[in-house]
Amino acid sequence: MSRVYNFSAGPAMMPEEVLKTCAEEMLDYHGSGQSVMEMSHRSKWFDEIIKTAEKDFRELVGVPDNYKVLFLQGGAWTQFSAIPMNLMKNKVADYIITGQWAKKAWQEAKRYGDARAIASSEDKTFSYIPDCSDLPISDDADYVYICQNNTIYGTKFPELPNTKGKDLVADVSSMFLSEPHDISKYAVLYGGVQKNVGPAGMSIVVVRDDLVTDDVLEGTPTMLKWKTQADADSLFNTPPCYTIYTCGLVFKWLKEQGGLAAMKAKNEEKAAILYNFLDQSQLFKGTVEKASRSLMNVPFVTGNEELDKKFVAESTEAGFVNLKGHRSVGGMRASIYNAMPKEGVEKLVEFMADFEKKNG
Ligand SMILES: *Cc1c(COP(=O)(O)O)cnc(C)c1O
Repeated sequence: MSRVYNFSAGPAMMPEEVLKTCAEEMLDYHGSGQSVMEMSHRSKWFDEIIKTAEKDFRELVGVPDNYKVLFLQGGAWTQFSAIPMNLMKNKVADYIITGQWAKKAWQEAKRYGDARAIASSEDKTFSYIPDCSDLPISDDADYVYICQNNTIYGTKFPELPNTKGKDLVADVSSMFLSEPHDISKYAVLYGGVQKNVGPAGMSIVVVRDDLVTDDVLEGTPTMLKWKTQADADSLFNTPPCYTIYTCGLVFKWLKEQGGLAAMKAKNEEKAAILYNFLDQSQLFKGTVEKASRSLMNVPFVTGNEELDKKFVAESTEAGFVNLKGHRSVGGMRASIYNAMPKEGVEKLVEFMADFEKKNG
């Protein structure tokens, strides 16, 4: 067996220990004589799996008691609609546009009310995070929306925006559990799990409980009303059982790694290896303003499309896969989530240095 270093933005690498547990428990989960894929979501085994997953997530993140944790199908995209449907009481919301995902969420919200773009970094291909210390927050805004880590462009908010007292909603898909999240600063923190947590098929939505009500926009589908899901402890209908189980194993793995503060230190160390290399390289250049750099997604270019292509082809051949940049940016992007070992980043940098010597 030979595993590659997978720099995919998502679905992405999983911790090998977790995959091994999945394999060991595949045919007979804890003496049940069944795989978790096969068992009823109303069984005593699955009841324990989902309850333990929520408990471990709450402990890991330090979720305050007045927040609900929901395990929902439909990915982050589905929440682009659920957020305005559940929160737009005044039908006004302010969006900070720092990339494609923020823009898509904003465009979706515009279908339900007056969603305003109050800041944007599109003028420079989303290569920085705008100053968010004194934005024109709408007096009647139901919430202020950000995408805290921009997967495609490799930027991250250096600090949270000043929302002037309005509720903050954040998509943290590509930085979920990569560092501590101070939940009390958010009204809603959510993300798809397939970037940094588990396999595809689910979002985790952490929402302050006063926002989980029947007072939603007319026409909100039953499934998209957070209260439906909260009242049923994420078991309203058949949930993504196997994904919940796998995420539960990842939460335990993260606890064993020392928790989110320890993950942050490891992720900073990994990112520094790559950024330090880019900063001194004569061939490769990072595409993001330094103050806005992401710890998770690192885009870079050579400045020559042919050379970019050659690099992607040769690195793939050498076992560093999925380094091709997003189609809207070009070049390369290394996603170095929690499960990417430090050794993977070190070896990538060695490979890049060697490529530079031969092609510089
Ligand atoms: C990938 C991604 C999404 C879309 O996620 P889906 O689960 O495919 O809907 C949304 N936001 C961010 C920040 C992402 O990285």
